[in-house]
Amino acid sequence: MSLPAIQSRLISACKAAGRDPSDVTLIAVSKVQPLELVRAVLVEGQKVFGENYVQEAQGKWPDLRAEFGPLEVHMIGPLQTNKAKVAMDLFDAIHTLDRPSLATKLANLAQQRGSCPKLFIQINTGEEPQKAGVLPADTDAFIATARALDLPITGLMCIPPEGEDSTPHFNALAALAARNGLTGLSMGMSGDFEAAIAAGATHVRVGSAIFGARDYS
Ligand SMILES: *Cc1c(COP(=O)(O)O)cnc(C)c1O
Repeated sequence: MSLPAIQSRLISACKAAGRDPSDVTLIAVSKVQPLELVRAVLVEGQKVFGENYVQEAQGKWPDLRAEFGPLEVHMIGPLQTNKAKVAMDLFDAIHTLDRPSLATKLANLAQQRGSCPKLFIQINTGEEPQKAGVLPADTDAFIATARALDLPITGLMCIPPEGEDSTPHFNALAALAARNGLTGLSMGMSGDFEAAIAAGATHVRVGSAIFGARDYS
């Protein structure tokens, strides 16, 4: 695959769902990818990227922003509280607000700096013990807490369990967002972004389908 191929699949999925493609942001997930591949996608005009690791993003994006101009970099990986400050300086959005201690930390930092990245609350729709995220049953209360802290909550995010049909998880996330008056839905990856668009995704996070498989060696 490649960026143009994914863009055209995104547009087809929007058409099939009767949605406007401009309502779906394609986040190119560049974690662990070689710099030359990231640069190639930048040259093709991609402006929105996703990263999982604060340190890796720190080593990459300040230079790329200086070279390529205004870009959006989204944090989509787990965020340690002690990296929250660096993350706030680096990222335009954080998709992984997943616990009260992080909410408090982000709120304190936001107050000090007078600004805050867009925030998505990660929901553990599959209720998997090893996975981060707020449980569905705790979601309404967590959103209320975040709002009481004046945090700018854009929407909800999920990573469905591996090997399961994603659509019920996407629909559950959409329902949780709707009943809390949230319009942002960060859902869908290389294997299921078209299903996510059908279920209402506003942000799809696509890595390997754009860049090829990640090499962690
Ligand atoms: C790595 C990652 C992605 C991209 O996954 P692909 O299957 O390569 O598209 C999307 N979302 C999150 C949270 C990720 O960690």
